[in-house]
Amino acid sequence: MERVVVLGGGESGVGSAVLAKVKGFDVFLSDSGKIKDDAKATLAKWEIEYEEGGHTMEKILNANEVVKSPGIPDNVPLIVAIREKGIGIISEIEFAGRYDTAKKICITGSNGKTTTTSLIYFMLKNAGLNVGLAGNIGQSYAYQVATCNYDYYVLELSSFQLDGMYDFKADIAILMNITPDHLDRYDFKMQNYVNSKFRITRNMKEEDCFIFCEDDPVTIGQLEQIVSRAKMLPFTQKNSTPKENGAWVGDEKMYVGMNGDVDYIYLKELALQGKHNVYNSMAAAIAAKAIKIDKKVIRESLMTFKGVEHRMEKVLKIKNVLYINDSKATNVDSAWYALDSMTTPVVWIAGGKDKGNDYGPLFNLVKEKVRVLICMGVDNTKLHRDFEDKVDMIFDVLSAKEAVQKAYEVALPGETVLLSPCCASFDLFKSYEDRGRQFKDAVRAL
Ligand code: ADP
Repeated sequence: MERVVVLGGGESGVGSAVLAKVKGFDVFLSDSGKIKDDAKATLAKWEIEYEEGGHTMEKILNANEVVKSPGIPDNVPLIVAIREKGIGIISEIEFAGRYDTAKKICITGSNGKTTTTSLIYFMLKNAGLNVGLAGNIGQSYAYQVATCNYDYYVLELSSFQLDGMYDFKADIAILMNITPDHLDRYDFKMQNYVNSKFRITRNMKEEDCFIFCEDDPVTIGQLEQIVSRAKMLPFTQKNSTPKENGAWVGDEKMYVGMNGDVDYIYLKELALQGKHNVYNSMAAAIAAKAIKIDKKVIRESLMTFKGVEHRMEKVLKIKNVLYINDSKATNVDSAWYALDSMTTPVVWIAGGKDKGNDYGPLFNLVKEKVRVLICMGVDNTKLHRDFEDKVDMIFDVLSAKEAVQKAYEVALPGETVLLSPCCASFDLFKSYEDRGRQFKDAVRAL
């Protein structure tokens, strides 16, 4: 019997193990840390052997194939040892893709993945299609492939998942944008990260679609290097020339064309506001049109989508100060869009675990819009160095509660308190969700 070893006992690992079991493999799951109780219950239910708190080499190096959680870096000794033995290492998505005949709409990019993925899922649901939502979001893809039978999947794919993908093919691939992120996992080389994102176009054929942002110089620069047979569907906010296929903006409207058939919606009608969300709405609308969803359904969906928690989420207005939770802004580009969309002076809460950030692109926006900077991180040296001369006041805090209290003290009526940290959350919080929730709780307690 072929042996599949799954590394990592999180959502994707447990899902992969269940799928491997269903497909008749000899399965073993190993996690160097603790496995959560509900995950253990699932493993027990499916009679899957597992270990936690360390890896037993003999039980791993006898695998025919390894499914690795995207959270495990390539340079840890275990992964090096597996590669040295010549054992193939793949991601959950590659593994599950082998057993899935559904049409797959896959979304990647540095920012906008979750929003766009959720919006497309919402559209397909509204169109009455039998569709699953997976990838970096919700229940694992592998688990759903093992236990459900969908006609479509909308999959959010991170660069780490793409790194472990080889034969997988998307029917519709969407690349939102590429800006520096996670460079610590890519030897601090931007090209490595770019290559990883472009893996989403692998294996695509003439009948498949590649949706991408024409305004993103990194994407466009790379496009010349790749040979893709897929139908190219660009979106842009900078070039208002109508397209046979793709999306553009003109006279306050967003247009989507497919084989010359053009629909439009007024920008002010879009449920998701802000320039970045126009990109997300365009990408989603092209994908929906490519699978021939009715234009009324696309339009209604664009107008009624509720957005996703922790992304420019309005929390409360207190004493005429609006509090916004953008905890998911874990890199410079997403914080750029947050600051760019501000129409009042800002009390900006930023900081956390730095991933090799270059704050340069924010300098002008911060000078123009930010009055007070509240640094919420264990090490705020870099924020002080880069922004001290660009804001009126700067403070250091060590919790969301402290940050909100400080913001409440200093914010003037008519201003906005914006949590858009630019950094990962792991120095002070469990996750960006934890950071966002603590922020919201503190605001609600004011
Ligand atoms: P991802 O899943 O790629 O991290 P999200 O949809 O969760 O993307 O959004 C992450 C952050 O980026 C949020 O702060 C959000 O406001 C911002 N954002 C959303 N869409 C875009 C975009 N197209 N370009 C830049 N920033 C974006």
